Amino acid sequence: MSTEAQWYLPLSSETVQCTLCPHICILKEGKSGICRVRMNQGGKLATEVYGFVSSIHFDPIEKKPLYHFFPGSTILSLGTYGCNLRCFFCQNCTISQTAVKPELPRSFYTPEQIVQIALKRPENIGIAFTYNEPVVWFEYMYDIARLAKDAGLKTVMVTNGFVNKEPLDALLEYIDAFSVDLKAFSEEFYTKVTSSKLEPVKETLKQINQAGKHLEVVNLVIPELNDDEASFSGMVSWIANMLGKETVFHISRYYPNYNLKTEATSISSIRKLKRMAEKEMDFVYTGNIYTEVSETHCIKCNNLLITRNSYSVITGGLDEEGRCRACGNYFLKKV
Ligand code: SF4
Ligand code: SF4
Repeated sequence: MSTEAQWYLPLSSETVQCTLCPHICILKEGKSGICRVRMNQGGKLATEVYGFVSSIHFDPIEKKPLYHFFPGSTILSLGTYGCNLRCFFCQNCTISQTAVKPELPRSFYTPEQIVQIALKRPENIGIAFTYNEPVVWFEYMYDIARLAKDAGLKTVMVTNGFVNKEPLDALLEYIDAFSVDLKAFSEEFYTKVTSSKLEPVKETLKQINQAGKHLEVVNLVIPELNDDEASFSGMVSWIANMLGKETVFHISRYYPNYNLKTEATSISSIRKLKRMAEKEMDFVYTGNIYTEVSETHCIKCNNLLITRNSYSVITGGLDEEGRCRACGNYFLKKV
């Protein structure tokens, strides 16, 4: 089922321009954009994935990854199909790198049904838009997020950050927390490996930060493609200076996937980059190293606040208000 999309301009009776993401695709009748799921149908832009759910699960919030947003909680997570990037290494290529076809497994849910599912589990804190890139299903996400906020639920967006300013402004009203991939700190990487651009992602990060929303940044380290120490160091300095040194930063281990067969990143390389980042930032974590236990300490008194062992999370150092039990320093942002 197709629904008319937002964020487009009619250029003629047959041609439209999508203004949702920086690709700003110009589409003739019957053609889809780079994301494959927004199409010119009869001179109007249509979203082909409204209500079209590829996966829906209750996940630990740490899986997004979000480590400083309701730690240890559960969040209803859903995705559809499509993505506006073409990362060689995509870990969700079966749902992100496809057009909508009749044989694709899916279930149809209205936004009201998604909110009802989220409310049924007492321990669930809200709804996360994730798995494939939620920007490309803006309308569905937006409608769910508005209802979710009315129902007292938290909302989370897991995104590549390749979105234009105005649509992001609209989302900022209804999304509480963002996990954003910063895939590298080089335009060449973004162009060659993801078919997109770095600068708009930096703008997205600044916009989310300026709006005062909870933000965690994820960098997937791929051997030889984006593990150059000078470039990594430039990324860390930019985050610390532009977003704040207290920004939560995840350095994730890459495993071969989709069109990239390079060997997995060595654990020693991830640990070395973590030590580098810790010189400038307060909260640096490694990801995709399944045997590693991670800890969070109070930046004021060094009290142990949170311990994570895989998805088992102990938050014994925090009180009910999200303050350090030892010194009373507020650790968790109020949402
Ligand atoms: S959302 Fe899709 S159709 Fe719109 S500009 Fe981006 S890639 Fe093109
Ligand atoms: S942005 Fe994410 S979902 Fe899209 S292609 Fe890249 S890795 Fe896959």
